[in-house]
Amino acid sequence: MPDSHTAAQQPLAAKSPYELRVNLGKDVPESDVRTALATGDMGFLHSFTTGSTVDGPGVRVVAWTTGCMFRCLYCHNPDTWTMSNGIPVTIAKAVSELRKYRRGLKVMSGGFTLSGGEPLMQHRFAVKLLTAAKTMGIHTALDTNGIYGDRVSDAELEAIDLVLLDIKTWDPERHRKLTGMDNGPTLEFARRLAARKRPVSLRFVLVPGLTDDQEDIAQIARFVAGLGNVERVDVLPFHQMGRFKWKNLGIPYTLEGAEPPSNELVEKTCAVFRTEGLKVY
Ligand code: SF4
Repeated sequence: MPDSHTAAQQPLAAKSPYELRVNLGKDVPESDVRTALATGDMGFLHSFTTGSTVDGPGVRVVAWTTGCMFRCLYCHNPDTWTMSNGIPVTIAKAVSELRKYRRGLKVMSGGFTLSGGEPLMQHRFAVKLLTAAKTMGIHTALDTNGIYGDRVSDAELEAIDLVLLDIKTWDPERHRKLTGMDNGPTLEFARRLAARKRPVSLRFVLVPGLTDDQEDIAQIARFVAGLGNVERVDVLPFHQMGRFKWKNLGIPYTLEGAEPPSNELVEKTCAVFRTEGLKVY
């Protein structure tokens, strides 16, 4: 792919994690998009940031891809749902950007995290970028909802040092209402990662009234504890930081009046995971 597709006017670095970005890749011809997806020579990135301490161990460089099949009611980045909202970036450009941070990341025991959106919507680009990072000696993490886990081969999984796996909720019907999709593929990916002994961090977003059913959480905790490869659980309290994006994008938002979980509810939820012997943060 020619670098002329790298929407030059728009910096990859976002002003904040909540910067609204739309239509940055809309001028890329459809045929180029198809080639990009098939080869992984070009990807669409919402943004790129340095210095994150919440997306894996140590200090991280994070690239957020665009494109996601889920429609989580609580999503705080709905501008990442559509691939063409992202900046088209060649794999060569993405790798050279990452190379700049290689030494610093080592010194800070950090690494590179690919997040989204759902990075495996662009699985060839994702695998190429993670493999390049790993080859440079950078610790790699993939933040994923797992639905396209079967797109990554066993050999390609070796390029991912840590999977940050989102399990949204356990009950299949509740999951469909929450995300619009089944959770079967996510759970299957979790089982496969366990069978391959690949390290996993579980990420669970706690939303009062949507994901706080204690029996549902207990089912997730039992499942995750039984896998044997889950190193930690992060309970992430719902917040309203992305509400303005829904409004600006003209997407009906059903959580307008929703409150973040109370400290008591967060603690109660963490306790459910701890009861199963999991490390919770
Ligand atoms: S999986 Fe992530 S990016 Fe996709 S809709 Fe859900 S919260 Fe948003």
